[in-house]
Amino acid sequence: MSNLEDRPDELVCDQPATGARGRIEVMTPREVPLGGPRAMTVRRTLPQRERSLIGAWCFLDHYGPDDVADSGGMLVAPHPHTGLQTVSWLFTGEIEHRDSAGHHAMVRPGELNLMTAGHAISHSEVSTPLTTVLHGAQLWVALPASARDVEPTFEHFAPTPVTGQGWEARVFLGSLLGSSSPVSTATPLLGAELLLGAGTELHLDVDPGFEHGVLVDTGIVSVGDVETKQHELAYLPPGSQRLTVEALADARVLLLGGPPFGEAIVMWWNFVGRSHDEIVGFREEWMAQLSDGGYVDGRFGVPTGNALAAIPAPALPNARLRERR
Ligand code: MN
Repeated sequence: MSNLEDRPDELVCDQPATGARGRIEVMTPREVPLGGPRAMTVRRTLPQRERSLIGAWCFLDHYGPDDVADSGGMLVAPHPHTGLQTVSWLFTGEIEHRDSAGHHAMVRPGELNLMTAGHAISHSEVSTPLTTVLHGAQLWVALPASARDVEPTFEHFAPTPVTGQGWEARVFLGSLLGSSSPVSTATPLLGAELLLGAGTELHLDVDPGFEHGVLVDTGIVSVGDVETKQHELAYLPPGSQRLTVEALADARVLLLGGPPFGEAIVMWWNFVGRSHDEIVGFREEWMAQLSDGGYVDGRFGVPTGNALAAIPAPALPNARLRERR
């Protein structure tokens, strides 16, 4: 998905300078309109002013369940990305993906679709005519310096659910509960959907080097004894080998994790870079492809089979932000 804010802030995302190291934080989402005729809105829990990254996870939009007859569904025209991967994870509905690396895919519930932008990509995402309810999450993964300039790729993986008494898990990235994803990542990552029946207490063996996020889609859970309500994101710092999630009502959550990213990044609109000047350059190259009202080939390519007009980049903020280390 695209960040369709009209006036996106330029964000320098570094490790937090102060704050609650060593304890669980609960973050609330902000509502962001995605644009379009009826303005589908999403709940954004990352980045936040106080916390930009959980491992390499740098962007977390959560939406629905939306009645497509009311929201208009997802109609995201071609837009560019750099330096990141997008993870599309659906609970309900279907989205058609087309990108400039030649991939055409249907995004369906319970299946990982991982697009690596690397050096540059452009793509469109449109909910299909069969979709009546749209419900899911769009996540971004920041690529480390060693991988941020790679050629764009696209991978698909449908995890086999693992189950136990009162729970079911789909592990789409990394390893958990004896289930491992075959999809390789540039930094270690964990991504899983957990379904928990009311009263279920699930003890998870995790990597103590990882920090974790628990996004509550439905229900209410206790994460390490901290109550986390629907649509909230609980953050757990590194240092624990075991993470306990207890469902206080029937619940569905996304569990994300990874070791602290350790590199300062600059995020603006749909770009992840390392400096203000680099972002300015990405924007210029994208806008050069949109000159004369058309959509021509360039750094970001052109998605095959796409009939939508590409999305122009917003204006850059007036202030030049200094990079932090
Ligand atoms: Mn996108």
